[in-house]
Amino acid sequence: MVAGGLSGGDSYQGYRTRLVETLQSRGIRDLGVLRAVSLVPRHRFVPESVRHRAYEDAALPIGGGQTISQPWVQARYIEVLGLTGREKVLEVGTGSGYQTALLAMVADRVFSVERVPELTREAQKIMLELGIGNVTILGGDGTLGWRPYAPYDAVLVAAASPEVPKPLLEQLAVGGRLVIPIGDREKQALHLVTRRDADNYETTSLGDVRFVPLIGEHGFRR
Ligand code: SAH
Repeated sequence: MVAGGLSGGDSYQGYRTRLVETLQSRGIRDLGVLRAVSLVPRHRFVPESVRHRAYEDAALPIGGGQTISQPWVQARYIEVLGLTGREKVLEVGTGSGYQTALLAMVADRVFSVERVPELTREAQKIMLELGIGNVTILGGDGTLGWRPYAPYDAVLVAAASPEVPKPLLEQLAVGGRLVIPIGDREKQALHLVTRRDADNYETTSLGDVRFVPLIGEHGFRR
């Protein structure tokens, strides 16, 4: 767990504190996640045009037809992974990098894969600017996972897929957890998959969500 030079205390701190309270009132309990939300400057991850809305509990456009998800969804997502600070995590769909930064605060090491090159570059740049050193952002098709660093204690897929990409199941450590929205392009259910042993995976459904499509070899084709 690396605080990455983030100390909070900027002119947005009051807004972040209120966002933390909103998330608590909506049921987020994980103290590590709440602390991460109070530290990570979300306004740095959204375009100028929507910066004034950065601390609303709402999804916002980040360009290229992509969105930064609602903070509650992102917090809940990380919460269900049950991270303790010791894990190696794979994230698929870096997007703005905001969720990646939250993960960096509650895990040991984060590898995040993004298919849109401009988003990959932007996210790499902001991690450097914020001094978040335990994150590696990679460009490519995340439905293939990222084999060189596997296995992962947790896998977070931030885009919707018709099924769980097989490489991600293979790269999940025994005892590890994976979250992914499964469904069609319009509507999905958040799935939590736990790998019990080499070929025993247990799946639970955690309710409806709506995400942009996961596009790749083991996701939607286009
Ligand atoms: N959690 C992000 C939002 C992610 S939106 C945030 O905080 O901003 C989903 C992202 O998944 C988009 O950036 C999209 O480009 C990316 N994506 C879609 N298919 C992908 C794939 N096969 N591999 C990697 N990234 C993918």
